[in-house]
This record gives sequence, C-alpha cells and structure tokens, in this order.
Amino acid sequence: MESLLEVEDLHTQYALDDGLVRAVDGVTLDIRRGEVLAVVGESGCGKSVMARSILRLVDKPGKITGGHIRVHTDDGVVDMANAEGPAIRSVRGKKVAMVFQEPIASMSPVHTLGNQIGESLRLHEMVDKKTARTRAIELLRRVGIPAPERRVDEYPFQMSGGMLQRAMIAMALSCGPDLLIADEPTTALDVTTQAQILELLRELQQDTGMAVMLITHDLGVAAQLADRIAVMYLGAVVETGTTDTVLRHPRHPYTQALLRSVPKLGSASRERLSPVRGMVPSPYQRPPGCTFHPRCDAFMEGRCEVTVPGSVPAPVLVSADKGARTDGTVSCLLYGDEDEGEATR
Ligand code: SF4
Repeated sequence: MESLLEVEDLHTQYALDDGLVRAVDGVTLDIRRGEVLAVVGESGCGKSVMARSILRLVDKPGKITGGHIRVHTDDGVVDMANAEGPAIRSVRGKKVAMVFQEPIASMSPVHTLGNQIGESLRLHEMVDKKTARTRAIELLRRVGIPAPERRVDEYPFQMSGGMLQRAMIAMALSCGPDLLIADEPTTALDVTTQAQILELLRELQQDTGMAVMLITHDLGVAAQLADRIAVMYLGAVVETGTTDTVLRHPRHPYTQALLRSVPKLGSASRERLSPVRGMVPSPYQRPPGCTFHPRCDAFMEGRCEVTVPGSVPAPVLVSADKGARTDGTVSCLLYGDEDEGEATR
C-alpha cells in the first residue's frame, strides 16, 4: 500500500519550570493509504501529543524540536514538522482531520452545528452558504444523527455525548480527508455508545477508503478496528506489527505486560490479571538506557540500564509447523545484534 504519512524521529518537548519533558522522544512510524493504525499505550506515554504534533496543534510551551512528519498529498509532500502557515493549513482539516476525546471542548458553544461544519467547508472548498448548509445536513445524516434538518440548527450543549461525537466526526469528514486521527474517541462515552461510535468509524473507513490513526489506551478497541498496531512507551514507539502479531505474538516485554493486564481476547475464563509492574516514571526523571528497564521482567543487568535499544525487525514464532515470520519492528535488546542500540542519553 502507498505511504500516506511518515513520522520520522519526531521530538516534541515542553520546557517547564521543573525541567524538560520529552513528551515525544524519537517517534518513527508510518501509515499507508486506507489502513487503520492503532497507537496504544498507557496514559501519559505521549500518544496524544504525537497525534497533535502531526497537525501542529501542540499547546504552548510544547514545541516540536526535531524530526519530520511527511504527509503525501496530490500536490507533493508536506513536512508538517517544518512547514509554515499556508502549508500547514493546506493539510490540517483538509488532508488530515482529527476528532478528540472531549468533543464539547473542541466545538464552539456559541455556534450551531451547521455553522461549524459549514465553516470548515467554506474555508477549504469555498462553497456558498446554502451549499454548505445542505452538505452539513448530508454529513449529519451520514454519521447517524436523526432529524439532521432540525439538528443542524442546534448548539453543542443541546446534544448528548454520543451525538456530539458523531457531529465531531461529521465535521472532520467534511472535506473528505485522506487520514482521520481519532484521539481516544470513545473514552468519555458509555459502553453502548462506545460500540456504536466504533462501528460508525469502521463503516466510514470502509466506505470512504480513508486511513485512520486510532489513539487508544484500550487494546480491545485496537483489536476491533486496527490493521496494524504501534505500541508507545515514554514518548517512543517500542513495537509495531500487524494486529495479529502484536496481540497474539507480542515480542516487546512492555507489550507482553500490557496484554497480561487485560482479559485475553475471546477468553471466557476468570484468569488472574496482572497490572504492568511498577509505575510510569516521572517525566522529569527518565530512566537511562531502555526507559522500560525499571519495570521489565526480562531486565539484563549491565546492558538494559546503559544502552538505548534501536528499532529492529523482529521475527515472530507463529507455531512449530508454520515457523517464524518477520513483521514490524521491536525496540528491545533481546532482539537484533548484540551491539544494536546506542549509548545512553
Ligand atoms: Fe526489557 Fe532490556 Fe528489552 Fe528494555 S531492552 S525491554 S529492559 S529486556
């Protein structure tokens, strides 16, 4: 599949009074046209900051300090990490759109849904007011909002959380983006509404062929929607692979620990779950070497606390008869050559 977005060695930092927070610390990943990539990890691992960096929506004092975010468009490649205003606006909302965990916080309370969706259409597609309103109604209908002709004139406070999330998705879809970034789109919703929103995202992705980057802490959500998964820990991607590989044959000790902390897929048994050992380290005191080493069951003294593991392709042992396949990458000193990795930072 053709590449749509390549994030390469991205760094986003916050210079705070208490020290420097390296929220995104060398993320490298890619997403291809039409695929669903889930980015998973515990809260605070940098996945939302990484997603916001892609659209240059990082709040101050956060700043992109290095790397590339290459978005492939019909008019060429835009490096969002290093682009200026007009180039950023040519991508944001048009080629790449985003929906957030709290739709109410990202919508204007003083404008109707129709005005907000129409505004995006008028900005990017220069349509007149009447056409924008007609398109807004169509979009609200497309995302399953009942009586869209009436709802188009309502304000965000008049809608339930689930309906608002649908409206936010309608707004994101208004310009037919190639990539939709959905940042924890179901976290604030009840279980029934969560399932409906996930189903809606799946339908829209299949109908439009757009790619989706799904940011989630919930491995079950990733399992339902994603073709591939990238696992993040302390600002970096530690494992990538197809959904089957990452969930059924995890290689990185962090992915293995994450999976032990949630019920097994399709399992009805009352197995004992074990949370990931220890705590996520303070953002001001990153462990040297492999940042996961204080919590890792496979810790190798003399290596893991001094060497930052590089990202290497890693084989997956599928079964004794099917053998091994190589799929995705892993950043762990258990894989690759002995001298793989770099001195501690
Ligand atoms: Fe664990 Fe060492 Fe691998 Fe880090 S590099 S995940 S500490 S085994």
